[in-house]
Order: sequence, then C-alpha cells, then structure tokens
Amino acid sequence: MKALRLLAILSLLCLNSACSREEAVFHDRFFAFGTLIEVTLYGVDQERAIQASDLIEQEFHKRHADWHAWEPGALSTTNEQLARLEPFSADPAVLPLLVEANRLSRLAQGLFNPTIGKLIALWGFHANELPVGTLPDAQAIKSLVEQAPSVADVTIEGDRVSNRNPAVAYDLGAFAKGYAIDRAIDRLRELGIDNAIVNAGGDLRGIGRHGERPWRIGIRHPRQPGVLASVELDGDDSVFTSGDYERYFEVDGKRYHHIIDPRTGYPADTATSVTVIHTDAAVADAAATALFVAGPDAWVAIARRMGIRYVMLIDTDGVIHMNPAMQARIHFEPGMQTEIRVSEPLS
Ligand code: AMP
Ligand code: MG
Repeated sequence: MKALRLLAILSLLCLNSACSREEAVFHDRFFAFGTLIEVTLYGVDQERAIQASDLIEQEFHKRHADWHAWEPGALSTTNEQLARLEPFSADPAVLPLLVEANRLSRLAQGLFNPTIGKLIALWGFHANELPVGTLPDAQAIKSLVEQAPSVADVTIEGDRVSNRNPAVAYDLGAFAKGYAIDRAIDRLRELGIDNAIVNAGGDLRGIGRHGERPWRIGIRHPRQPGVLASVELDGDDSVFTSGDYERYFEVDGKRYHHIIDPRTGYPADTATSVTVIHTDAAVADAAATALFVAGPDAWVAIARRMGIRYVMLIDTDGVIHMNPAMQARIHFEPGMQTEIRVSEPLS
C-alpha cells in the first residue's frame, strides 16, 4: 500500500515548469472496512496532504475495529450487554452510531434495520469467506423473523441503553461506512481542506471541486463490468449504491445476497441496485439499503420519509426507476440507457 502511495506522491511532483492541473491532485489508498478506501485531495500541498491522509487512515482502522460486526471489539461487547436485557452504559465509540442508526431505522419503517445481526450471521455473512452451497435452516429464519428485533426494543437515554428483546444484535454494515466517511470529511474540514473525496469501495462523499470543474463520479452497472452513468457533485454530496452483486453466494443457480428483508428473513428480491445522493454519507448509506429492500413499489414513500431527494433504483427486470430530480442530473454512458420509469417528484 505504501508503494502505491509513493507512486501517487511522485505523480504530484512537477518534473518541468509546465505543471498541469492534474498534478494538484493527491491520491492515497488503504484497506479498511473490508474494502479499498481512497482519499483524493485537490490543491493541498504534499506534506499537509500526507499528514491528513495518514490521520484519516488511523481513524478508519480504529473505527473498523470498534464497529466490526463479528470480530471482538466495542460493538460485539455492546451486543453481549444488550443480550443480558439489563441497562448498561454504552461505549462512547458506538453510542452515537446506535442513536443515529435507530433514528434512520424509524424513518425507514424498519426496512433499514440495524438490529438484525443474528439474521445476517445465520445467512453466513459474518465471515470473510462466504458459505458454499448451503442455505440456513428455514425454521431458524422463521423463528428470528417472528421475534422481530427492531430499534423499538432499544431505549437510549444519555449513555444508558436498555433492550427488551433477546433477538436484538446490532450489525452496522449498512451504515457504518457512511458514518465513517462523514467523520473523515469532518476531519479534513478541521484541517482546512475543502476540496476532497473520500471513497470506500465506490461509495463516497465529495466536497468542494476539482479545481475549475466539479468532481464527477461514476456509478457501476449492476450486471456488466464498467460504468452505467455518472453524476457531478454539487459542492457537498454523498453517492451510495447498494447492490446484490456486492456480497453473494449461489445455491442451485440462485443468488443469495447480503441485503436481507427483515420482514421475510430472506434476501430482498425486487431490485439489483439502488443509488442515493444525499449530503450526509451515513444517511445516504442507510437509505440505499432501505430503498433496496423497499423495491420498485415502495421506494418513493420511504425516500420521502427519509428526506432523500435523488434516487435511482434498478429492478430485477433491468428497468431503471428514478425521480425527476435524479433524471435531471445523471448522465448515462452511451448505450447504457434502457427502459426508464420516472416517478412523481420526491419533494
Ligand atoms: P449495504 O451494502 O450498505 O446495503 O449494507 C449491506 C450490509 O448491511 C449487509 O452486509 C449486512 O451486514 C447489513 N444488512 C443487510 N440487510 C440489512 C437491512 N435490511 N437493514 C440493515 N442492515 C442490513
Ligand atoms: Mg447502506
């Protein structure tokens, strides 16, 4: 990784007097949250850029350890405390996430449900290697769905947390990456850096501009290699996509992916990808997951409740659903535009 960064730094050096604008861009990359994190800064001198990126990298590693869904850390300790059904003082490393995740889950009417950790584990997604050829026991899924863990079971007052449902276990996988990106952007701003992108495996928040022009970013096609469309960022935007191609396994030719409908206990099966643009990355992250579960029939209602203004949902027939404001700002790559259904305005 450090070798990669060295290359990026070298590309910053102006080897002759004609430095192009591209050379004002600093890139760094590291692994955290099980994905490649890329920090891109515009117009920041090299020494400050390296310091800022190093700080962000350290903070990402700390958060990854604190919020990990299955390795021992602050979140797993919190889940053990929740399981005892007795009030406790939550670890400050996780408390603000629980508060915000609970708020977003209520807005999403439980379609984003951070308390279904036991269901996600049952499906085998709490592992670096996914299961091969086996499905969870249908009775075990049914039993967890009937116990209906939800954020309504968890009361938070100050740092005191109590839980009344033994089936509750937090999994912040649908939201923590966004939350971490927001904190990284806060940190960059504190350091006086106003033109930057923090990208975690294709989900990102971008602030400011790339010099004279806005940042422009690509949205992946859910079924083909390459880019489906692009959008320009408007000074402070997060772009998050939830897709059924990100983590999945197949049994008898059927795909079982990692976004679970909490109402059925099975992978949500009406969308292949959902892209959300919103200022806040944590909100965009939770919303992309919630709207994926909502599917083509319910995404408009949930997006309105969550205060989301830009959505693109691709359903399992390949039809692209968008609200008019999203249609106005998205640019499809040539030949990529298939059937499009434009919804009523969201706001
Ligand atoms: P994302 O890629 O942001 O849509 O997040 C997917 C991850 O969130 C999964 O790997 C699970 O850990 C978790 N997850 C799956 N389904 C849900 C859901 N309905 N609500 C909240 N988290 C979920
Ligand atoms: Mg998400």
